[in-house]
Formats: sequence, structure tokens, C-alpha cells
Amino acid sequence: MASFCVARLARNFCVGVVWVGVVLAVGCGGEKQPRHSDQIFQDRLKVDTLFLTEDGQRITRPMNPQSLVVFDAAAGKIAWPAFQCNNPDCPGRNADGSPYLFSRSNPFVSVQADGLISTRSQSTPADFELFQKYAEVKCPACLKKRNRSSESPRQSQQYVDWCQSYVLPSAAKRLAELDRELQKTLPARPRQR
Ligand SMILES: [Zn+2]
Repeated sequence: MASFCVARLARNFCVGVVWVGVVLAVGCGGEKQPRHSDQIFQDRLKVDTLFLTEDGQRITRPMNPQSLVVFDAAAGKIAWPAFQCNNPDCPGRNADGSPYLFSRSNPFVSVQADGLISTRSQSTPADFELFQKYAEVKCPACLKKRNRSSESPRQSQQYVDWCQSYVLPSAAKRLAELDRELQKTLPARPRQR
């Protein structure tokens, strides 16, 4: 009985040693396994983002599914992802020539004093009109000099096209890294004969 137990213990010990060896071999040697493309896409959605309040206060945070940051719940202040205006003649351009940055507050979303976000649904014609106004991205600086009633549809569209999401330099770098990583997950193209 005693010899059986000793033999069994010895065998378990040996199995344990082999397992430790395998774990060490996997952990210390060999190539790092490529990540699944889903994980890379998830990381793309979380890059550092500049959020702006309506009065221009800034905060940098990873992007989140709500696309907003509660800046000051007690004051009901929300920060929204920054946009930039690429109009070469934008009156908001900075002295160094860099584009004007602005936020787009969703008029149907608010924050309560306890930090909870509430979203109001659109139920009246006035709400619908408000939504239409919000849906069209507009640079507030350009808006001051625009005469919208005399603009052609093409000119109006040009103003929309000049407004783009602002990407922090650090986020652009990270996105490029993730794109390179994503490329590695794609199957190699078969050689053409
Ligand atoms: Zn502008």
C-alpha cells in the first residue's frame, strides 16, 4: 500500500514537472500568438479621444459606447467628441493655422445630478426640427459668416464635408499600429501564376 502511494506520488510529481516545463516553454519561447481581428476592432473603438464641452472645456478619455463624457454632473455638463473644421477660410482657425475644434451637443441627451444619462425621445414636430438641425454637422465659427438662405445645395454640402471628427495625434498613431496588426490577421493572398 505504502509503495503504491509512493509510486503514485512520484508519478504525479513527474506529471507536474512536465506541465511546468510546457508552461515555461510556451510562456518564454516562441512567437506571440496574433490576436483575433474582433479584439483589434474593439481596441479601435477605445482610442484616446478629445471631448469638448459646449463652452470649450477639454477632456481626453478613451472613446466609449455612449460617445460622451460626463464632465460635471452637478452642472449638467457633458463633453462630446471634438470635431474639426477643415474650411481653409474658417474664421475660427487658430493663429498657427490649425483647424478650429468644436463639439456637437446632442439636444436630446442630458445628465442628471447623480451622473445618470437620460435620452429624450422625439415626439413633437419641434423635436423633429431640432433633430434635423443637430443631424447636419455645422462649424459654429463658419456659421457666423454664412448666409444659408443664399447658399446652393452644393455649397451647403461643402460646409458639411469640411467638418470631420478630430483625431488626437496619439490616437492616429495607435490606429495605425492596430491597422498594421489587423493586416497580419488577414490570410495571405495566393500567388498569381
Ligand atoms: Zn469653420
